[in-house]
Amino acid sequence: MNSYLFADDLPVLDINRVIRQIGATPYKPTSVALTDLPGQQLGSVTVAGAHDWVSVSYQVADQARRARVGVERTPCHLGGSRPWWRCPRCGRRAALLVFDERAAPGCRGCLQRPYSVQHAGDLEAMALRVARARRWLGPGGRRPRGMRWPTYRRLLARLAAAEADMCAALAPLRDRCREAREVVK
Ligand SMILES: [Zn+2]
Repeated sequence: MNSYLFADDLPVLDINRVIRQIGATPYKPTSVALTDLPGQQLGSVTVAGAHDWVSVSYQVADQARRARVGVERTPCHLGGSRPWWRCPRCGRRAALLVFDERAAPGCRGCLQRPYSVQHAGDLEAMALRVARARRWLGPGGRRPRGMRWPTYRRLLARLAAAEADMCAALAPLRDRCREAREVVK
């Protein structure tokens, strides 16, 4: 799994896809796609399970991990039942299980929120990285005369990554400011 800058980019595992693919052979390990929210494939995991639990094997930074996740079923209007993950973190029902390389899987409520800034030092370091990445570029991020295109593209990518980190780190602060303003009104 790669690093994900924004929590919304984290890979998710759809319970309906899992149950459909496990089908009639629940205990046989089956490969199921991990996707982003719009449904584009980002990787895959191996699942095996029974009626009320699924064991999910996945890789994080080349390390094999496994999680056993409860499955709940709610009756449908037209008969049959609809499966849900039971979030291993909060116990709530969820259609999607979210994978984060830094933590055990959980529901979107538990994992898919902007990362919080742990230390003021982190912010400073991020600002420094943005400044360093900008230093070699022309005004407005233009390519300086004589700079080779591959170099320019690499520097641009580094700047984009540094800025994205910064935005992700600032998002919770921005939300808190917005909430504070709402209270003042
Ligand atoms: Zn949860």
